[in-house]
Amino acid sequence: MPNACSRTRNAMTRNPAIDRADLALHGGRPVVREPFPRPVRWDDRERAQLAEMIGQPSLFYWKGPQTELLLKRFRRHYPLPHAMTCSSGTAAIHIALLAAGIGPGDEVITSPITDMGTVIGILYQQGVPVFADLEPYRYNLDPSDVERKVTDRTRAVLAVHLAGNPCAMQELKALCEARNLLLIEDCAQAWGAACRGVPVGLCGDVACFSLNDFKHIGCGDGGIVATRDSAMGERLQRCGDKGYDRSAGISAPEFLAPNFRMSEPQAAVAAVQLARMPEIARQRRLLGDRLTRELTGIRGIRTHHVDTEDACSYWFYMFRTVDGELDCDRAEFVKALVAEGVRATAGYLPVPLYQFGLFRNENFFAGRWPVKELGLTRVDYGKVSCPAAEAILRTGVKLPVNEAMDEEYISAVGAAVRKVATAFARGEGREKTSRDK
Ligand SMILES: *Cc1c(COP(=O)(O)O)cnc(C)c1O
Repeated sequence: MPNACSRTRNAMTRNPAIDRADLALHGGRPVVREPFPRPVRWDDRERAQLAEMIGQPSLFYWKGPQTELLLKRFRRHYPLPHAMTCSSGTAAIHIALLAAGIGPGDEVITSPITDMGTVIGILYQQGVPVFADLEPYRYNLDPSDVERKVTDRTRAVLAVHLAGNPCAMQELKALCEARNLLLIEDCAQAWGAACRGVPVGLCGDVACFSLNDFKHIGCGDGGIVATRDSAMGERLQRCGDKGYDRSAGISAPEFLAPNFRMSEPQAAVAAVQLARMPEIARQRRLLGDRLTRELTGIRGIRTHHVDTEDACSYWFYMFRTVDGELDCDRAEFVKALVAEGVRATAGYLPVPLYQFGLFRNENFFAGRWPVKELGLTRVDYGKVSCPAAEAILRTGVKLPVNEAMDEEYISAVGAAVRKVATAFARGEGREKTSRDK
């Protein structure tokens, strides 16, 4: 959108010396004056599907028409031969780990900036989450640090596509193939994203999606786990359904598995949501990429990096403030942005996962950690350090992106960030000249 960019640019050259007094924080006129756009997430289409569902004699998932419709629509985008619906994204990941045979002492390398759902299944399988550091602006696993974290106990890499931004899958895949590791994709925040043209979920060995209330699409709570691997695939259903093999009638389970089933009402809503998914992802991609263009070249901040060949579906947008380039701390920057009418928040998590109390105190099983007591791991979460991840959380400013926004709204958000950054810019060249010449 070169037109819009030059519009912003002209606005700034007309008004080059943004004064701190102009900030809405100090009584100036806020940049974003429209009300916050809120998408209508469920409407008559879900209502109609639910009405159809309620006429069924059973609401059980096995051979349920809603579940089958949901999986049929899922396969349209993710043509994987084996798929299981389940109760959450957390459950999807747990099922994947169980189906892959992850057990006591097995190490799974993953990201320290993610939802708890990424690591819960690892711990319940008595596996050991091993945190690798992140790429500083992509916020995803740094393949070279993953490589450094591999030991003879490593069994899998669990790649989280944070905020809908694809991980460096080619590098991770090569590494996993060379070392015979399983590559699990946590696609909970990445519906509709693609890595070098390949939808995320189709790049690794097994894909895990969430349908919780806050994701791109949702049915209250739900998840899907899918794979093309036949050994894992034929276990998915039993791994999410108490070990019962429904195709064999009610069988006597051969292994222990939780009940992670998704019922028909959730599947009915999720099936309609799947039909909405491509448009939601497309709009978020358009808006997020537009925001990057608006924010490129502003002194004091760095944009959310997406590889040029990737498609990010922006579950959120997070730029970083740059130490030494601003005369304010992040808290003040966020406060000023909020005053400008932007729903900005500081960072994403307060600290990386390994600094959470449950990791610090290894408080996993009623205060105990059998894996450690049995000498199956020497990991000490008190000693883990991922400097890039810590810096990301210390300097990140998170902006909401949703499909109800339009380019004009996002452009106003960009102008607000520019106004605040310019007002707080330290030193002579208030803005980089490369872009503004
Ligand atoms: C939401 C989320 C999960 C867990 O999904 P639930 O459906 O809430 O259990 C896992 N990983 C990531 C990255 C998530 O954002």
